[in-house]
Amino acid sequence: MRRNPPWAMVALLLLTAGLAAANTEENLRAHVGYLADDARQGRGIGTPGLREAADYIAAEFRSMGLKPAFEGSFFQPFEMGWGVALGPANHVKLGEARFDTSKGIMPLGFSSAATARGAVVFAGYGITAPEYEYDDFAEVQAEGKIVLCMTGEPGEFDTTSVFEGVSYTTHVTLRAKVSNAKLHGATALLVVEGPIYAGTAAEVLKPPRSDEPYMDCGIPAMRVTRATVSALFPEFDLESVQRFIDANTAPRSLELKSDTVEVAVDISRETVEVRNVAGIIPGDSDVIVIGAHYDHLGLGQSGSLDEKPGEVHNGADDNASGVASILEAARILKAEPIAASVLVVAFTAEEVGLGGSRQIVDHFPLSLDHVRIMMNLDMVGRVRENKLTVIGCKTAEEFPSLVDSAAAKTGLEVTCKGDGYGPSDHMNFYLVDKPVLFLFTGAHEDYHRSSDDADKINYADMTRVANFTADLTRAVDAHEQPLTFVKVSEPAQKGGRFRSSFGSIPDFSQPDSLLGMRLSGVREGGPAAQAGLTRGDLLRRLGKVTINNIYDLTYALQIYAPGDTVIVEFVREDELHSTTAILQPSTR
Ligand SMILES: [Zn+2]
Repeated sequence: MRRNPPWAMVALLLLTAGLAAANTEENLRAHVGYLADDARQGRGIGTPGLREAADYIAAEFRSMGLKPAFEGSFFQPFEMGWGVALGPANHVKLGEARFDTSKGIMPLGFSSAATARGAVVFAGYGITAPEYEYDDFAEVQAEGKIVLCMTGEPGEFDTTSVFEGVSYTTHVTLRAKVSNAKLHGATALLVVEGPIYAGTAAEVLKPPRSDEPYMDCGIPAMRVTRATVSALFPEFDLESVQRFIDANTAPRSLELKSDTVEVAVDISRETVEVRNVAGIIPGDSDVIVIGAHYDHLGLGQSGSLDEKPGEVHNGADDNASGVASILEAARILKAEPIAASVLVVAFTAEEVGLGGSRQIVDHFPLSLDHVRIMMNLDMVGRVRENKLTVIGCKTAEEFPSLVDSAAAKTGLEVTCKGDGYGPSDHMNFYLVDKPVLFLFTGAHEDYHRSSDDADKINYADMTRVANFTADLTRAVDAHEQPLTFVKVSEPAQKGGRFRSSFGSIPDFSQPDSLLGMRLSGVREGGPAAQAGLTRGDLLRRLGKVTINNIYDLTYALQIYAPGDTVIVEFVREDELHSTTAILQPSTR
């Protein structure tokens, strides 16, 4: 090369740079085209489309010459709880009368598989709402009994209701009703649609969805039809009772049956195998992680914002764009390797609780101690006005300047801000004290809808995101010292609906059979942290609420106010511990 005149060198460089740029855009288009094709069926958990997507990513890694990350394989398989299958023994029985799933009853997907026997009490809408001075359990003894309640809430659609009237409150969910019934000592919950709002259509009880993760609620819980209710309790006039409750916003609970009623739920939770896909560009012992999730919402599993799910959710921006970008960044880095090793990973099960990233953090193929940074790309295909948002900037002291220098090189207008919390895969790395950056081009109206299609992606600017990712990787690598990790003390995100905050971060990937809420971390300075709780602890009680799962915690945070001191019970290394915590106001 030395003998070539300088101009030839320049011409060659210009030519190859031009080619690389053109290739990147074409490659990105091909990757997104494949992953977001209708044939992938939205890459839902447990589907052939998701398997094909994983195979495609692995084939790309192989053709680029990446080293398999898992003992000769690009795949890291693991099992996750998914869907519910009905057994034959579901029933409600009173004397000779017996109802099963073919007639009049249907278990809820999050029911426990268990049998309860005893007296039945009717508890209106099953709601205890001190903020509306309303309590369906005020005048009825539910301890040790089976509770029957209605769906909905008092004065639904009535603008003069003491409840919110035109919009539902948090009390309306079946999860909240179950938590409240449990709090009042119920051994089982039966739910019937109240007749006033039901219309005239025949009651059809749908079986639980088979495309969702479920968390066991701790007691048997099922839907029953109005016909079943009248057959079981012929004296009971559900409609007039509901009219009374709604007209007066006053509870009208009562004992329905002192004889023994039997409620039996026979369901089993299925598991599916899912796979992370990861390859390595070998280097020294330092590790830089670049990741993006490749799963999406299938035909509109839970999480879809479509009015009527059922269409293919192609997830072109969420997150074929991120996967395409890390593939291209990997190709660019492979062509001119850096000193550190680069782990390139396509996560599975992000959409259902960050399962894949949790799995790889727990079973890391390289030295987790040597991870310098994790960069997560999730929805990077819609650059508008040249803008890219980088979240997590506060998690290392060096980030603002490193991000700036990479941005200057790529020409994107980068906003660099925020902590390491947030609902995508980088959070699982932040929770084990790694600096993280989350690249994102912004929310849009197609988010989590079937309209998130490949033709809406801005491929020209996405090439710059891929280049930025590679440049940022080089900048981090070139930095002599390890980055200075900063654990940021920051309030919870805005936009939720809870009044109190406990500052705990749930481990969404905990096994379904585990009763309690396992923590993947605690917010710095939050009540849980101050009470001494930490990652891995299993929360079992908050105040008077037994915590069987995250929904119970949500419920507990609704009934306690900021400033309340509550008893906290948690299991650490098989031992039950007890302490207290002072709840903080939620800024959500
Ligand atoms: Zn996503």
